[in-house]
Amino acid sequence: MPEAPGAEFWKNLKPLDNSQKPDALPEVYLSKVATDDDRYYVPFTETVGSRPLWINVKDNTWSDILRAKEAGLVNRHYHPHEVFAYTISGKWGYLERDWTATAGDFVYEAPGEGHTLVAYEHEEPMKTLFIVKGPLVWLDENGEPDGIFDVHDYIDMCRRHYDEVGLGADRVNALFR
Ligand code: FE
Repeated sequence: MPEAPGAEFWKNLKPLDNSQKPDALPEVYLSKVATDDDRYYVPFTETVGSRPLWINVKDNTWSDILRAKEAGLVNRHYHPHEVFAYTISGKWGYLERDWTATAGDFVYEAPGEGHTLVAYEHEEPMKTLFIVKGPLVWLDENGEPDGIFDVHDYIDMCRRHYDEVGLGADRVNALFR
């Protein structure tokens, strides 16, 4: 049961008895995920961190809060699959695109896009909710493939960091669905 209602019109509604099928996995609920607590942000590049929110091994997909406290860079890479983004704060974009995203902006990147992510200097840190379907294919200066990063690399990176900062790898494991 969520917080008890006050005078809301739905206050006497009965919750479903069987809201989750026997084999359904529990939801992921995380409060205030775009925190400023540094421990939650796994260093992804030298200037950009990622807080894992949800991880799906089967589909090679994850959701995270990407954060850059100052100017930031995620070097050029290619996405064979789609990416969704919702900007919470700060300012960011791709060198290859003509828009600049700020708080409230949504982006959908169709499969088959290569780009270089940059975060600007801003009074607020850049924080963006991403849903990424892996892998990322790293590219060299000529746009040629130069390594891949997929959900397995992401999990490994997150577990190591959460162990290192004392949050514990189990906190990453709890995000698997
Ligand atoms: Fe990308």
